[in-house]
Amino acid sequence: MRQAHSFGVEAVVLRHADYGEADRILTLFTRQLGKTRAIVKGARKITSRKAGHLEPFTRVKLQLAKGRDMPLITQADTVDGFQPLREDLVLTSQASYVLELVDRLTYDEGTDSSGVFKLLTETLERLSGKADPWMTTRYYEMRLLDHLGFRPKLFECAVCGKEIQAEDQFFSYAAGGVVCPASARDEGLRRDDRLMLRPITVEGLKYLRHFQRSTFAVASRAHPIQQVQQETETLMQGLFTYLLERELKTPGFLRQIRR
Ligand SMILES: [Zn+2]
Repeated sequence: MRQAHSFGVEAVVLRHADYGEADRILTLFTRQLGKTRAIVKGARKITSRKAGHLEPFTRVKLQLAKGRDMPLITQADTVDGFQPLREDLVLTSQASYVLELVDRLTYDEGTDSSGVFKLLTETLERLSGKADPWMTTRYYEMRLLDHLGFRPKLFECAVCGKEIQAEDQFFSYAAGGVVCPASARDEGLRRDDRLMLRPITVEGLKYLRHFQRSTFAVASRAHPIQQVQQETETLMQGLFTYLLERELKTPGFLRQIRR
């Protein structure tokens, strides 16, 4: 009964590493299992027919068989090679960033894998299509936070819970969202440097909210000016840096990188 030990998955190749004499270990994000690793026997032999399908960014259908330490890839078919992402340096770096975020923020067999898989493949399709790379990446960041349970609070103050008014505000990575000016003025809080309050303009907040609650079709009609692009990009980068540093300290992540 070979079939009992073999199963099909849909995956995006996140990265690969050489293993032993001729094998290769792939880190995959799959629709069915979330992030997982699998081995390709003989991938580095010139005669390997499977290896070409298994470069990073590629969307594939794989047949996996139970292996001793991790699943073996017995068959690989390309669904989309996202060729444009390999031919343009800006797109290559955007796509690498997209893969890196999901790789670093998810654990093996994470929850909501089909939602993240859909977001990931849609984002790669958008980047290799005609969508604006900046908009595509910001939208992806905001949606990824949702899927992973880090949805930032953008409508109520993350400290006092009051509704946010249309005025310049503050943002705190540690509090997980916008902090109203009144809370930011609070002496006790201001001295608490863990909150790391940083200003955010009305316009900047408007776009973050837009990414959080709109479909991509609607969100991508917006055209923020350069200054607002810079502001929201810096803010999101800071938030991810904060989350990654915090995640690094969690035992789950340490287990993960030791493997
Ligand atoms: Zn407040």
